[in-house]
Amino acid sequence: MRIDVLTIFPEMFPPVLESSILARAAAKKVIRVRVHDLRDWSNDKHRKVDDRPYGGGPGMVMRADPFFRAVEALRKQKAKPHVVLLSPQGQKLTQKKAQALAKKPWLVLLCGHYEGVDERVRQKLAAEELSIGDYVLTCGELPAMVLIDSVVRLLPGSLGCEQSAAEESFSGNLLEYPHYTRPVEFRGMRVPDILLSGDASRVAEWRRLQSLRRTRAQRPDLTR
Ligand code: SAM
Repeated sequence: MRIDVLTIFPEMFPPVLESSILARAAAKKVIRVRVHDLRDWSNDKHRKVDDRPYGGGPGMVMRADPFFRAVEALRKQKAKPHVVLLSPQGQKLTQKKAQALAKKPWLVLLCGHYEGVDERVRQKLAAEELSIGDYVLTCGELPAMVLIDSVVRLLPGSLGCEQSAAEESFSGNLLEYPHYTRPVEFRGMRVPDILLSGDASRVAEWRRLQSLRRTRAQRPDLTR
């Protein structure tokens, strides 16, 4: 998968992209991520990419033209990317959405800032608008990184164990079962005996039951 990010804060990305699963996915050539400074597509001599809002009001709005020029320049290199605008007003990024995005060969992520992005970007440039939750962040860079992580870990070859992603919370309509590791007893709390039994089918049955109970208690909305 190829991922291009358009941002005015490219320096925010390397610490995340160069760590853990994302670094490994890049090293194994599962992904190729390119982070571009949106200001490179500004026509302003001071590299400005924002301006005052028409109609007045507080703050600045990111101009449409640098986003359009950047995406058009990228498109020249390859067929057709799936362009996503990160926005608190978008559809929510869910596991299902991450699974759908993981099937796309090429994503272009547009990061907003200030009061947001000129509406014409949403109307004509972005194929979809995605939010990471019902809260407002300062900028689209953190949401873009969240999206990248949620998608890349689903790509074959990213995780050490493919099964991990298949059995996780939200991969079906249940939360995952509880996990334990050594020691068997910690501060008076013991690992459930069944997990020490070596009986794989009873362990599977116990885990299924725990998943059901946990989902009912914490996220009953998932099974409705
Ligand atoms: N004025 C906008 C509103 O009320 O809807 C909020 C703009 S926000 C301060 C600036 C940028 O941060 C947005 O353009 C978007 O790219 C990003 N952003 C903020 N919260 C987000 C969220 N929950 N999900 C995705 N992107 C978000």
